[in-house]
Amino acid sequence: MIPSPITPSVNFDADGTQHGYLKLPHSRDESAWGTMLIPITVVKNGEGPTALLTGANHGDEYEGPVALSKLANTLAAEQIHGRVIILPFMNYPAFRAGKRTSPLDGGNMNRSFPGRPDGSFTEKIADYIYCHLLPLSDYVLDLHSGGKSMQLLPFAAAHVLEDKAQQARCVAAMQAFAAPYHIMLVELDSVGMYDSAAEALGKTFVTTELGGGGSAIPYTLEIAETGIHNLLVHAGIKHGALIPRNSVRLDMSADNCFITSEHDGLLEMCVNLGDPVSKGQVVARIHDPARTGVAPEGYRAGLDGIVALRHFPGLIQCGDAIALIAVAQLD
Ligand code: ZN
Repeated sequence: MIPSPITPSVNFDADGTQHGYLKLPHSRDESAWGTMLIPITVVKNGEGPTALLTGANHGDEYEGPVALSKLANTLAAEQIHGRVIILPFMNYPAFRAGKRTSPLDGGNMNRSFPGRPDGSFTEKIADYIYCHLLPLSDYVLDLHSGGKSMQLLPFAAAHVLEDKAQQARCVAAMQAFAAPYHIMLVELDSVGMYDSAAEALGKTFVTTELGGGGSAIPYTLEIAETGIHNLLVHAGIKHGALIPRNSVRLDMSADNCFITSEHDGLLEMCVNLGDPVSKGQVVARIHDPARTGVAPEGYRAGLDGIVALRHFPGLIQCGDAIALIAVAQLD
């Protein structure tokens, strides 16, 4: 087995709080013997379960990085029993560039697992997480949001798994997170996903989508921070009580739930995120950016539901998702 080129500056077995780095050699024009320093915090207090908390799997999603930076700054060893590993900026080059994927190799972290120790930068980081961090962990929380191109209703999600006992553990952790919305996901193309890599190792895994638009707002940050607290309490790691919230279950499995643009142009959203819509209702119009005096193209909802996702930037291209209409169900 080829060893990972990454070395940690923290000792995962030591009690107390440690702030350090995952150190990855990065030889480049500006720094011949340089190193990429990926921040990591480990908080440990005695024996107990371990939670691995990650953000910036995609580098332009900010609720996770902000909430986890705050947690790393404030979580004291006396508040826990067990271990919390905080990796706020998983795809660090992508995060520093403010991009979904890595500017060094084009790598999409969530398509790079289980990674390779002798692969691209993205694959080397994925390999280290897969071989060295996931095996230490019992609970794994990966905080995503819509990024610069999308805005989503804030939800936590678990996957439909073959192992129903594991699925039940994941669902219980997702419900404990207590986002305003939750969803059961069936991945059609799970190759390379962090989610499926962690689940294949038997971990209790929760993922989220918490807003987006290329920034974080107080509303979605509160959901991230409350969810992290709740997950750690649920895992038996953090002392304290769960902070409950009534969640609405979303179903996004209908064939016609996605509305995809077939035009390039100027986007006029006609509904807000979270609005109820009925089948046939105009959800968006796309205006011709090259001339005036032309009627816009109207895009309609294919089913009754609520707007769970919208395209965020004002310009849109052919093939972009305009919106997703989900069906809301009270538990
Ligand atoms: Zn993401």
